[in-house]
Amino acid sequence: MILEIVKYGHPALRARGARIKKVDQRIRELAANMIETMIAADGCGLAAQQIGIPLRLCVVDIREVQNRPSRMWINSNEVDPNKFMPLVLINPEVETLGSEEAGTEGCLSLPGITAEILRPARVKVTATNLEEETIQFEAAGLLSRAIQHEFDHLNGVLFIDRMDLKTREAVQPLLDKITPNKSHFLH
Ligand code: ZN
Repeated sequence: MILEIVKYGHPALRARGARIKKVDQRIRELAANMIETMIAADGCGLAAQQIGIPLRLCVVDIREVQNRPSRMWINSNEVDPNKFMPLVLINPEVETLGSEEAGTEGCLSLPGITAEILRPARVKVTATNLEEETIQFEAAGLLSRAIQHEFDHLNGVLFIDRMDLKTREAVQPLLDKITPNKSHFLH
């Protein structure tokens, strides 16, 4: 089922996600719907906050992006990231490694806005999967960036918060134009 993606101004986007205590049928259905929603929207990541539910759950799929490579390691062995997509990350912990690099980002909740954002090049991720197993891997390239962007969402952080002042000022008129979701109009 395709879910409604909430837009900038919705309070869920600023909420810190609650930890998921049990991976039950409800969480499995939610993750499946989030994957379907992400793919339908041509996104490479989606956090639960973006469908209005502040939980520590996000999905990532970088398979469609061919011009921006991703790398992935499990137990220090390099693996093909495509084989692990779509990724479902429950209660993820993200440790950033390496020096910062700039890369273009956009966000399904902030349509029409893209900007260069500085982020550490590499991440070490520990998370729970849908089988309630602990998974651990390292990522670089677009996958690292997508995971950091989604992990920010789980803490109520948006990529506009990571823009330099000049970029942040330049995108303000675009932010002002984003129409909030009708069902969640903020006063
Ligand atoms: Zn986003």
